[in-house]
Amino acid sequence: MARVSFPYSAPVSQTLFDRAAAVTPGGVNSPVRAFRAVGGTPRFMVSGAGPYLTDADGREYVDLVCSWGPMILGHSHPEVTAAVQEAVARGTSFGTPGEGEVALAEEIVARIEPVEQVRLVSSGTEATMSAIRLARGFTGRAKVIKFAGCYHGHVDALLAAAGSGVATLGLPDTPGVTGAQAGDTIVVPYNDLEAVHEAFHKHPGEIACVITEAAPGNMGVVPPQPGFNAGLKAACAKNGALYISDEVMTGFRTSKAGWFGVDGVEPDLMTFGKVMGGGFPAAAFGGRADVMAHLAPAGPVYQAGTLSGNPVATAAGLAQLRLLDDAAYEKVNAVSAEIRSLVTEALGKEGVAHRVQNASNMFTVFFTDREVRNYEDAKAQESFRFTAFFHSMLSQGVYLPPSSFESWFVSTAHDERAIERVAAALPGAARAAAEATEVSA
Ligand code: PLP
Repeated sequence: MARVSFPYSAPVSQTLFDRAAAVTPGGVNSPVRAFRAVGGTPRFMVSGAGPYLTDADGREYVDLVCSWGPMILGHSHPEVTAAVQEAVARGTSFGTPGEGEVALAEEIVARIEPVEQVRLVSSGTEATMSAIRLARGFTGRAKVIKFAGCYHGHVDALLAAAGSGVATLGLPDTPGVTGAQAGDTIVVPYNDLEAVHEAFHKHPGEIACVITEAAPGNMGVVPPQPGFNAGLKAACAKNGALYISDEVMTGFRTSKAGWFGVDGVEPDLMTFGKVMGGGFPAAAFGGRADVMAHLAPAGPVYQAGTLSGNPVATAAGLAQLRLLDDAAYEKVNAVSAEIRSLVTEALGKEGVAHRVQNASNMFTVFFTDREVRNYEDAKAQESFRFTAFFHSMLSQGVYLPPSSFESWFVSTAHDERAIERVAAALPGAARAAAEATEVSA
């Protein structure tokens, strides 16, 4: 932990947080929102417009989290809002098929070549959980290879990952995940093809699939080394396993066709979420038609959802995807490049060891001077400097992810005024990072 003084209080957020903590574990509905890694009071947001968020104390922030990725057009985009209002006026859930879900599936299939068929669900967790079940059902095998530091939602079998030796042994990281649930998960270091080959060698005919983040953002942004994803694909093909590319974070964000549009490696199955829901709970998994044909009701692998393909969520997602043309990606990429270079300049001036890593427009500022190629590298950074940096930015009205193991996200709405506000905040934050000292907890 760093010795950080919190530059101002947030009394209304604090009151809300106290109320929340009385009725919700830890006061939040998703752990990283709680500021546990950085300390201080989580900001309760009341509204968002373009690149800005406003909190319950009436303070405005330039938002560099964008709801952890989905808000690629910024907040309250008028066309997305209009599509949602129209959909709501027609009814919010029917429990029957509807045209919106067909149109959204068609849009996904049209954009992403390896996706011949797609099934809509409500969260990224559901998408990866269902893709794993389908891979097991299709291959008749049990084991799954995943990478340390990759996050695929809170699927029991996929939580075996975050913690060093325990993760390596495939033991549960989280109480509540049994040895049986995690026992078929093989965890290997990211960007290490040799370890993948070894796992296939040790378990012949037992591995159903390899699941990987297409370009990881959940240990901070750690792009695949050249040839890594292609190597995974080849290892899977050789050993009769499926290659699952988790594009929940990268999908429709890193390009029109997500990370597949960047590296062109064709997965057997893919998972999506975040951007495709336009800020609503919509996600999907899809891929080869012969594999997807094993899903109920076409095939025997069961998967279902009361709100899957919800008409409001599909309307929001479709409106957002239709606005995401080449010009939109150029704009998001340019905003990302500009902020990355401003951060580098500010930290460089203060002599702070850092590395800004990106996968297209997703990026992370690691407080280390070494390239981060896997989770072990990410953990070796000086996170206490991030804590000081984060609070300085927050106090100056810039909202960063409250963790040094996350991607920063920008949008088409981040205009010159918003970028200038980030630029103005950076020198003070860089100084705070330079002056930060580690204290033992
Ligand atoms: N997969 C990846 C790569 C993710 O980044 C996430 C969430 O951050 C998920 C899966 C889980 O998605 P959700 O939070 O919608 O369940």
